[in-house]
Amino acid sequence: MSMTETILVVNAGSSSLKFELFRVGSQDSLARAIKGRVDGIPNRPHLSIRDASGVVVDEHLAAGSVPDLPAALALARGRVVEWLDGAAPVAIGHRVVHGGPDYSAPVLVDDIVLAKLQRYVPLAPLHQPNNLAPIRAVWAHDPALPQVACFDTAFHRGRSELADRFALPERLYEEGVRRYGFHGLSYEYIAGRMAEIAPELADRRLIVAHLGSGASLCAMRERRSVESSMGFTALDGIPMGTRPGQLDPGVVLYLIAEKGLDVGEVQRLLYQECGLKGLSGISNDVRELLASSDPRASRAIEIFVYRTALMAGALTAALGGLDAFVFTAGIGENAPEVRTRIGRYLAWFGLELDPAANDANATRISRPSSPVGCFVVPTDEELMIGRHTLEVLRRQPAHARG
Ligand code: ADP
Repeated sequence: MSMTETILVVNAGSSSLKFELFRVGSQDSLARAIKGRVDGIPNRPHLSIRDASGVVVDEHLAAGSVPDLPAALALARGRVVEWLDGAAPVAIGHRVVHGGPDYSAPVLVDDIVLAKLQRYVPLAPLHQPNNLAPIRAVWAHDPALPQVACFDTAFHRGRSELADRFALPERLYEEGVRRYGFHGLSYEYIAGRMAEIAPELADRRLIVAHLGSGASLCAMRERRSVESSMGFTALDGIPMGTRPGQLDPGVVLYLIAEKGLDVGEVQRLLYQECGLKGLSGISNDVRELLASSDPRASRAIEIFVYRTALMAGALTAALGGLDAFVFTAGIGENAPEVRTRIGRYLAWFGLELDPAANDANATRISRPSSPVGCFVVPTDEELMIGRHTLEVLRRQPAHARG
């Protein structure tokens, strides 16, 4: 019997690199073997790895020993190979935030692809460079190792042109100022899960609410994106942990012209100081806000709920009605109270939650009589990346299975 193949999945953020290792099983099914992360880059690096038996590594590393994300990936790969007794993953799948206007599917990385992805840096200046640096470093040392870029935007490509345009002059659309949409790997995973959970609804009119520290909604029909709440960047749409969501652009003009903020200050405000954190003045974490008796905490949650419901109304219009509403990600999967409050706003189009099922975080949380189905479905973006990576790998002649 040949040795089990493994796929390494990497999600590189600003000061942390998360990674997961999947074993390839029969019929190319994937089983999660390891979950790990390198935090505190560069000043207080910390490596943790957990496998099915529990914690394998929990290690503080010397300051400066992991100076950047490529070094973090090198560290992770080294430990993964050790854990595999010398075997190496057959490919690496990367989460890349921006695939620009063209990429509607994952892609095998080469020089040309890297150059193209580099051109999208201005579209996601805070995220894209972090995603690309580890890919480039591996490519430079080990060009024979297949690396696959999986995009947060890809799932939304191919939807109607109406959805991709702001009401801006055409020249800005042409140079890439478009409504892209994000969280696509999560939505794609949920679309697949819905086909297993509720096949009678999966191809109909769905709204999926990805409510995590970043949050957005996606309207789908036939398991494809029709519309979403996020636009040009991950700032748009509904309020998030620390981002405001939809904002009158006049507010940005006011901050610059009247308050004298520069670009960096506006950026910091919009990415780090708004949303639930800014509204409450307490925390960006919904758990903390729900536990607090401070009226600012409950008001912050109510605004989050209200704006999510408004967006659901807009997406329902895009779909011409609604057959099912799905909650996912940290808040969506774990906060019955938030789902109840969103559910109340959605009662007008026939959503009836079953309180006991909702409190239990059950998979189907609508009453049997509810005209609109409601579900809680845990997302798994890393598994989605792993699957894409293996699919792309199998399409390469040298790796095809005979
Ligand atoms: P991300 O992957 O974008 O960092 P997650 O999807 O893990 O985010 O969601 C994180 C958020 O989920 C936390 O900020 C917290 O507000 C919320 N959350 C997690 N668990 C719970 C819970 N048990 N109750 C309420 N909210 C929760």
